[in-house]
Amino acid sequence: MDHHLSPELEELRRTVEEFAHDAVAPKIGDFYERHEFPYEIVREMGRMGLFGLPFPEEYGGMGGDYLALGIALEELARVDSSIAITLEAGVSLGAMPVYRFGTEAQKREWLPRLCSGEVLGAFGLTEPDGGSDAGATRTTARLDPNTNEWVINGTKCFITNSGTDITGLVTVTAVTDRAEDGRPRISSIIVPSGTPGFTVAAPYSKVGWNASDTRELSFVDVRVPAANLLGEEGRGYAQFLRILDEGRIAISALATGLAQGCVDESVKYAKERQAFGRSIGGYQAIQFKIADMEMKAHTARLAWRDAASRLVSGEPFKKEAALAKLYSSTIAVDNARDATQIHGGYGFMNEYPVARMWRDSKILEIGEGTSEVQRMLIARELGLAG
Ligand SMILES: Cc1cc2nc3c(=O)[nH]c(=O)nc-3n(C[C@H](O)[C@H](O)[C@H](O)COP(=O)(O)OP(=O)(O)OC[C@H]3O[C@@H](n4cnc5c(N)ncnc54)[C@H](O)[C@@H]3O)c2cc1C
Repeated sequence: MDHHLSPELEELRRTVEEFAHDAVAPKIGDFYERHEFPYEIVREMGRMGLFGLPFPEEYGGMGGDYLALGIALEELARVDSSIAITLEAGVSLGAMPVYRFGTEAQKREWLPRLCSGEVLGAFGLTEPDGGSDAGATRTTARLDPNTNEWVINGTKCFITNSGTDITGLVTVTAVTDRAEDGRPRISSIIVPSGTPGFTVAAPYSKVGWNASDTRELSFVDVRVPAANLLGEEGRGYAQFLRILDEGRIAISALATGLAQGCVDESVKYAKERQAFGRSIGGYQAIQFKIADMEMKAHTARLAWRDAASRLVSGEPFKKEAALAKLYSSTIAVDNARDATQIHGGYGFMNEYPVARMWRDSKILEIGEGTSEVQRMLIARELGLAG
């Protein structure tokens, strides 16, 4: 792997870094405090082409790949994670299933609007009775032969980007059949926002990611055309495993950004803050803490870029994606805790970015596969699981 960014990727990195610094940093704290979705910032990200980064130009994308997406996510999360997760979920969970598994007609219908950020997509996998054990899906979809429509019933929980004013679709996983041994056959189905019987609850009150949109969804006899099936019937389980494998690389890039943001803020603060007659950055205890934080962010970056390079070049990347996600989320929590400590009492005040980073870090060990699930995947790749 060449660890130098190409001139195009370096240009993208610089552009997003500047945008995060100039357009996100001054405004996002207020949105976060008000638990409000930052439409104007998301619109601007759409204009910049960020939602289309890894998609071909023929569908309205930028012709990039997962490496480009990761670079953008890392730079955004250095400043704010609500913005970064809105992009991550919009691309990896909203648009990517349509691109990977959709028919040509589905791609033409949805991708140009998803790539421009005019419309956000969401992915509804998790249910109130289980997230890690996604095979235990209870939502059902029955094909009505009279109308040639799927009839969907069930509940999904914790779904990102599912209830904004610009949400256009949610892809849901549902049991469409059972195998002879009784095991459920799961399929993915596109449900456009506003379909009768599809209800979006009020946003959750969350510990972090407060300027991002997360909702519970319910489906009561929701009817969509048979043509809204995404990919092959009964292949939904395999499809979402692929989507989650890729998504973990994106979450890892986001976690790396948060970890690096903690370093950025800590260096700045350690130079300014005086204690016992000198800046606290002059004390070795603080220097060593920040040096360790930098080491962890750097290593996490190597891990996600390695997994992304494997994905882009068509090599197996499942284990590397799980390693990168596990490591970067662990060290994001470490760095957020240490950055808060370096800020002393100010670190506990919401006006300081590190307070937001601390609150935003924990979910990284939970979403898109918990740390326990990542360990299970790594052990399985090592031939250990039964
Ligand atoms: C803010 C937010 C946004 C989210 N966005 C989305 C989204 O857009 N789409 C979506 O589908 N989901 C989304 N999720 C759901 C998220 O992916 C799940 O919360 C996560 O996968 C864990 O599932 P769970 O909450 O049901 O926990 P559970 O699966 O109930 O797990 C509880 C605990 O048990 C552990 N555990 C479970 N099984 C095992 C085992 N076999 N061995 C050891 N330990 C185990 C877990 O690691 C965890 O610590 C989101 C969640 C949050 C909080």
